[in-house]
Amino acid sequence: MNIALICGISGQDGSLLAKNLLSKGYKVFGTSRDAQITSFANLRRLGISTDVSLESMVLTDFRSVFQVLNKVEPDEVYNLAGQSSVGLSFQQPVETLESITIGTLNLLEAIRFTGKAIRLYNAGSSECFGDTGGLPANEATPFHPRSPYAVAKAAAFWEVANYREAYGLYAVSGILFNHESPFRPERFVTTKIVKTACRIAQGSSEKLRLGNIDIQRDWGWAEEYVEAMSRMLQQDQPEDLVIATGVTCSLMDFVSAVFMCLDLDPAEHVETDSILLRPTDLMVSRADPCRATQKIAWQASSLMPHIAEMLVEEELKLTRDSSRFLST
Ligand code: NDP
Repeated sequence: MNIALICGISGQDGSLLAKNLLSKGYKVFGTSRDAQITSFANLRRLGISTDVSLESMVLTDFRSVFQVLNKVEPDEVYNLAGQSSVGLSFQQPVETLESITIGTLNLLEAIRFTGKAIRLYNAGSSECFGDTGGLPANEATPFHPRSPYAVAKAAAFWEVANYREAYGLYAVSGILFNHESPFRPERFVTTKIVKTACRIAQGSSEKLRLGNIDIQRDWGWAEEYVEAMSRMLQQDQPEDLVIATGVTCSLMDFVSAVFMCLDLDPAEHVETDSILLRPTDLMVSRADPCRATQKIAWQASSLMPHIAEMLVEEELKLTRDSSRFLST
């Protein structure tokens, strides 16, 4: 039986990947900074909280990383932990940089120390590309990060590449574009849009306040992206790949799709607020994911606006279930 260790199992991707790997017969271990107090709500919502083994591990603490690796003896390690919000990275640049760059370095060093043939997947990010002037980014596109988060992800990407080249580690980064699910917290704009719109549809008089609604992103469905992560560790030769849908839409397109599902007119409920603008932002994020199709036979199936519809449907189901629970 293959053993997988998922660092950051409480998050969106960690919990969905755990479900994916369990369905393939893996024994799954997962880490959280403090497994004793973390609620693991996503694992419970997916009905798999008792199927995984949980460990406390702080990526910036080499001793804790090394101990968990020696205890679990994984075949595959997925590094999905670290501060994951671009917006928050402007307020917590040091925490962001440390959790991503020192965290990834500790994992690489600890794997090297074990001397075992452990395969490492690292969560890279499309944010590393910065603004490509509307051109689709692929594996050969240079990085020009425009946030503390993106700077950290770029450094971690090169750490992984360097350990692969210098020490022959099987270590890869998936350069993932935005991917969504009902498991994302409200700090992320897509979740904020869906949750606010659903509350408005249910009678709330609040306004949906957004920063730049003209930004354009490539949005995919997270459940499909965790499958790409797993496939990236099954290649004969380790290789970094861009994972995306290849379709770019504006944030306003996303807002319109969500409001349309709820028969609402965004013009009546959406306000822009300059206080929500980031110091630097990417206007257009565009991807060329062709190599992933060639190398790991992966292609996104869910696109916008279907993604917006699935998110609204799940949110309405969640609020229906919780009001039914409260009335019993
Ligand atoms: P989440 O924020 O949902 O999960 C990240 C996990 O990392 C959390 O569950 C948390 O675990 C841990 N974590 C959070 N903050 C810190 C911190 N400061 N220091 C150490 N650990 C922390 O992220 P996603 O699941 O959405 O993303 C997974 C990875 O993929 C992340 O690295 C993210 O940056 C990257 N990524 C995500 C994209 C997306 O669209 N979702 C796009 C591209 C890259 P705990 O609190 O239990 O310790």
